[in-house]
Amino acid sequence: MTIPVPADVISRLKAVLGEGGWSTDPERLAPKLVEWRGRWQGTTPLLALPRSTADVAAVVGICAEAGVAIIPQGGNTGLVSGQIPQGEILLSTERLTAVRDIDAFDDVITVEAGVTLAAVHEAAAKVGRRFPLGLASEGSATVGGVVSTNAGGTQVLRYGTTRNLVLGLEAVLPNGEIWNGLKRLRKDNTGYDLKQLLIGAEGTLGVVTAASLKLFPILASRSVAICGLESPRQAIELLALAKAVTGGAVEAFELIGRMGLDFALKNVPGLREPLDARHPWYVLIETTTATPGEAEAAMGRLLEQAFEAGLVTDAAIAQTGKQMGAFWALRENQSVGQKPEGSVWKHDIAVPVSRIADFIEQATAAVIAFSPGVRVVAFGHVGDGNVHYDVLRPEGGSDAAHDALRDEGATLVHDIVAGMEGSISAEHGLGSMKGHEALRYKSPVEVAALRAVREALDPRRIMNPRALF
Ligand SMILES: Cc1cc2nc3c(=O)[nH]c(=O)nc-3n(C[C@H](O)[C@H](O)[C@H](O)COP(=O)(O)OP(=O)(O)OC[C@H]3O[C@@H](n4cnc5c(N)ncnc54)[C@H](O)[C@@H]3O)c2cc1C
Repeated sequence: MTIPVPADVISRLKAVLGEGGWSTDPERLAPKLVEWRGRWQGTTPLLALPRSTADVAAVVGICAEAGVAIIPQGGNTGLVSGQIPQGEILLSTERLTAVRDIDAFDDVITVEAGVTLAAVHEAAAKVGRRFPLGLASEGSATVGGVVSTNAGGTQVLRYGTTRNLVLGLEAVLPNGEIWNGLKRLRKDNTGYDLKQLLIGAEGTLGVVTAASLKLFPILASRSVAICGLESPRQAIELLALAKAVTGGAVEAFELIGRMGLDFALKNVPGLREPLDARHPWYVLIETTTATPGEAEAAMGRLLEQAFEAGLVTDAAIAQTGKQMGAFWALRENQSVGQKPEGSVWKHDIAVPVSRIADFIEQATAAVIAFSPGVRVVAFGHVGDGNVHYDVLRPEGGSDAAHDALRDEGATLVHDIVAGMEGSISAEHGLGSMKGHEALRYKSPVEVAALRAVREALDPRRIMNPRALF
């Protein structure tokens, strides 16, 4: 339960933040108090809008002294309610937007927490470099949010998640002290790694105020194809072939199911059927290289061998940048496309890549047996073993009835995941939504160690108190 924030704390916060540094205006607050899908509605006595790391430190310091809880928020694109306050102070990073430094020799960009992922891409491109983390939410998702959720997008297969892309962090710890860890080292083997503790901590161990991120050479060659397939099992076989014959050029390998494609085509204007024939499943494959012509050659090799082996019978390679965008739009609109179809149980799971087909088969049989008529939309980063496994209410059914079964449905799906030594949250984190569920699958030894870390850094549990466990 969140304790009401004393009036004198609010007054002190307003005083340190100064004019324009806070708001209680309902209109200003409204978009920050509702989650992207409208699933959670929040409330806060004060929106703090710090302009600098020093401002953040002042806010956290006052709250730490008074034992008042804080929820950090970046772009508010999180999908597990970690950024939505329920009576806590809401600390937005929207004014921490400086690109502090960009260095094409060291291949590092240092940006403040409120800079969007899209702005990082833009800044990197200006110096002929690339930051290889792409999300459908990148126009709003911020560096602070991406770091705090250890986001992983469509390029994890080649570049890893955010954990692999951060060189250094600056953060305000839960006692209000500033930690400057904005190093740009590729190697630093000096004991515990504080930045790695903060990455994926979902705002529970402090406020990330800036990050140094790795840059990579800009692409000289890119190819995107869509293949029609019979089953997820075929997709896994195709992935194995892709790894074997493309010389590491595969950057993305994304699964799309027919039902998700149909919803996207029906509900999102401007999308088109990718192939002449209809198929039960599709994969979108992207190859990239820094050497001209190589990505196209690798894609050609892959599809030739896939056709020869009978793994693929229908495919199209995008011929223009516009067509590449059109193929990607089918994948990126999987969530948007299903939105008008009513209530959904969302699962964001990972299993070993070799078990993806087993997972989809077993989970689908289980949810249909549990609630006949539900519609399964499975899609995602199959190359990383990560499936967004969405279970929509039966056509014409009631949202309320489907919502009422959500927790039991999740347990069914998550038990299957656990049986395959998987994870119940591959991308989005736990937030205040999945912490209890995660406890069911972590060992008591691990939970005790993790809680000890949190307790040591934040003994009054003021930082995002309802998140994690
Ligand atoms: C359409 C869509 C597509 C998406 N695709 C992906 C995807 O492919 N991969 C993926 O991983 N995620 C994806 N997401 C989820 C989301 O975009 C990511 O989790 C993103 O990293 C959140 O960034 P944000 O700035 O919006 O953070 P918020 O939503 O504002 O916050 C998320 C969490 O981070 C904490 N936080 C935010 N900023 C800070 C900070 N500066 N310091 C400490 N804690 C902080 C918050 O308290 C909260 O717990 C998607 C979301 C949408 C809506």
